[in-house]
Amino acid sequence: MKLGKIAEICYNITTSYLNLPGNTDIIISTQKAILTTKHQLLDDAFARWSPLNGDISFSYNGGKDCQVLLLIYLSCLWEFFLNTIKGSQYGGNSHQFPLFELPTVFIDQEETFSTIKAFVEDTSDRYGLSLYESSRNDTVKMSMAMAFEHYLSLHQETKAIVIGIRHSDPFGENLKYIQETDSGWPEFMRIQPILHWNLSNIWSFLLYSGEPICGLYGVGYTSLGGLNNTLPNPYLKLSDNTEEKKSEFEWELNHRFENQKLELEIHPNDRAILDTFSNKYKPGWYLTDEKLERAGRLKKT
Ligand code: FAD
Ligand code: MG
Ligand code: MG
Repeated sequence: MKLGKIAEICYNITTSYLNLPGNTDIIISTQKAILTTKHQLLDDAFARWSPLNGDISFSYNGGKDCQVLLLIYLSCLWEFFLNTIKGSQYGGNSHQFPLFELPTVFIDQEETFSTIKAFVEDTSDRYGLSLYESSRNDTVKMSMAMAFEHYLSLHQETKAIVIGIRHSDPFGENLKYIQETDSGWPEFMRIQPILHWNLSNIWSFLLYSGEPICGLYGVGYTSLGGLNNTLPNPYLKLSDNTEEKKSEFEWELNHRFENQKLELEIHPNDRAILDTFSNKYKPGWYLTDEKLERAGRLKKT
């Protein structure tokens, strides 16, 4: 889709969420979380770096957190654009949206689920991303820092990269929403505007958004990593005699933006892996305790 068009759709999704009557505590706290993110992007980040000229890139791996951030980032991009044409006698539709594609980086160093790869590619079209995928070399494993160094050597205009990390992620506790990279990393600024979001906030907004979601979340995965170190979350295992309780997000699921059907596609290549599990699992959004979010991740050997 054209970037301007999808940015406007994301603006409509975000505005619609912010205008919900707030009939659950989760919705009220998510509305607050969105307002903080919008402030950090529009008033701080976009005041320092232009979002329209390649200063800012987006780090994206198809996971729920960076997808949520992408939706709000695109919404802010549309709002930024509207502000730049304010006062002009023509409306948004008669002005050309000034950015063709959003510079985006996907570091693909591990063996990846085909479902994730296909989702990243599909959503890359949907969200108007200009996707850089790090090349994989199975003999020389590149660290994430090295992969970004390579990206920056190709895109020297990059000054800051947006990251969908949260305070509850490993080593995320003391991060700030704008900060330089640490030593051992190439030098650029990190923009981390969803640090304050909790897992319930993520699911509430994403399930309401009407957007497609990576299919692995539908079959019990709660945190996505490599093919060889990621399993469905054991806390979501269904046993035959458990009565299935409703998730905390029934309202969002029943009131999805523009009544969009929930799409959770699994790539045929991953079916065989899923068939090896003897249990069935509830969808990822049945788990809202951050401490258990990575319980399906195996230690890397
Ligand atoms: P996840 O929820 O998997 O990821 C959090 C976010 O990181 C995602 O939403 C996405 O925006 C990004 N991300 C994760 N995996 C990928 C991927 N494969 N390709 C593209 N984006 C991805 N750590 C430091 O200690 N010091 C640093 O200075 C530092 N700088 C970083 C700069 C960038 C641009 C990025 C993306 C990461 C950086 N990191 C740094 C690592 C970061 O703090 C996380 O550890 C890392 O993103 C992995 O996150 P996670 O798997 O714990 O959580
Ligand atoms: Mg995450
Ligand atoms: Mg990760």
